[in-house]
Amino acid sequence: MIAFAPCEHTARVKAGKTNSGNQRFKCKDCGARFTEENPLGR
Ligand SMILES: [Zn+2]
Repeated sequence: MIAFAPCEHTARVKAGKTNSGNQRFKCKDCGARFTEENPLGR
């Protein structure tokens, strides 16, 4: 469903924002952190 997640867990929580203002999320299941943007797109 959500393409930007690094894992297939769905228990995500908002975890503040990055310096560039993008929403940051954290997976409650595995602890992975990621943002709305594609982590591969630098
Ligand atoms: Zn996860």
